[in-house]
Amino acid sequence: MSPKIPRPKAVPGFTIERRSACGKIYTTVTLSPSTATPMEVFIRFGKAGGCGSAMADGIARLVSYGLRSGLEPVDAFKALTGIGCHLGANTCLNCVAESIGIVLEHLKTGRDLNDLIEEADFAALNQIGQGADHHEI
Ligand SMILES: [Zn+2]
Repeated sequence: MSPKIPRPKAVPGFTIERRSACGKIYTTVTLSPSTATPMEVFIRFGKAGGCGSAMADGIARLVSYGLRSGLEPVDAFKALTGIGCHLGANTCLNCVAESIGIVLEHLKTGRDLNDLIEEADFAALNQIGQGADHHEI
């Protein structure tokens, strides 16, 4: 692991809002001003002081530590992808992974962030629909 890069006092970033079955989740990905690549993740989820909020803070801190020490953003995205909670597959933590993925896609292709969010919401809705059908059979 490389030494952690110092954090400038001001950095640019993107905040993605997603609605999941677990409630609204805001994921902020900040960018290194020198390389324009992700250097930190902040997650706002759950009631302040609650378990969800504490877990989200811990995950964000670890991911940020990794990103500032040479972890590839796509590997952080992969590690968090596909983790479901008691409410199903497309829920809280997966929304955080998707939000990171949306920012990575935007940085790679220059596509509009709101278009990418809309696509992800649409895909999530379709998967929920398919899940419901599956349970009815
Ligand atoms: Zn959840």
